[in-house]
Amino acid sequence: MQSDTPAALGLDVGGHGIKAALVDGAGRVLHFEKREIAALGGRAVDAVEERLVELVAALDASAAELGVETPLPIGVGIPGFHDRRTGLLRQSPNFPGWEDVAVAARLTERLGRPVITENDANAAVLGEAWAGAAKGCDDVLMLTLGTGVGSGILVGGHLVRGHAGAGAEAGHFALYPGGRKCGCGQRGCFERYASGPALVETAEEAWFEEGQTGDLPVTSAREVFELEAETGVRPDLWASRAIERWSLDLGMGLASLVHILSPGAIVIGGGLIGAWDRFADPAQAALSKRTHPAIRGDVLPLRRAALGEAAGAVGAAAAALGHGS
Ligand SMILES: [Zn+2]
Repeated sequence: MQSDTPAALGLDVGGHGIKAALVDGAGRVLHFEKREIAALGGRAVDAVEERLVELVAALDASAAELGVETPLPIGVGIPGFHDRRTGLLRQSPNFPGWEDVAVAARLTERLGRPVITENDANAAVLGEAWAGAAKGCDDVLMLTLGTGVGSGILVGGHLVRGHAGAGAEAGHFALYPGGRKCGCGQRGCFERYASGPALVETAEEAWFEEGQTGDLPVTSAREVFELEAETGVRPDLWASRAIERWSLDLGMGLASLVHILSPGAIVIGGGLIGAWDRFADPAQAALSKRTHPAIRGDVLPLRRAALGEAAGAVGAAAAALGHGS
């Protein structure tokens, strides 16, 4: 590798661990590793910082081995509201105690070079737009379907962050006003109909509608998909009805977002894309039916996230190189 090729380090802090990547100037991952963090104490600010410092040392060593000139700029993706006016991470779900923490300044001081922090979902869309499923596209909507519905939005190559860093939270617009209660305190949020736990809840509704009694025999979205795969698609049975309804809700939510953003690409990532072949078509049909023909052609087909677990780390490196600003 040429030593003058711009390269960066990207780190992605998640609830279960930290992923780290040495990325070259074209978004290619030259070295990747991850460390688990303990569920409780491991998520404290000091503990996460220690892990980040260790991982930067490991990436630096890898860069030196590959002949890449160091030190390299660093980007770190962390869940939560990043207020760029103050440089503070205001609040982070799943990371208790992370309130008004000057993470970027603290890491910059410890590591002796500029560190940029970015919301984790924002980092993921940057990664996919740089080197993944939406490569080369400047107007991208990315949804991450898992425990919740995360979202990252690029408009004209710029991340939508909002006034206080709390923007682009597409999981919390009201899909069904007055509907299911959400962890954010509101009711009917998109996330409560298009996440993994939401599929289980939709399955439970279909189960009782079918006249079944007792507990639903599955506890995770993956099990709903697995169970249906065993019986085959049966529109008369609760599992298939739940998956169809869940896919419809996903497509309807996307249609609303498309009318606001008119993206050039929609990327879907997260743990649930293992069931891509089952839900992409019905979600797409629902989206297509509810989207103005003039913009429909730009967003279809839906794109499956391509960078897998490295998306956030690649995107954090992109942020360190100035992408999305
Ligand atoms: Zn909500």
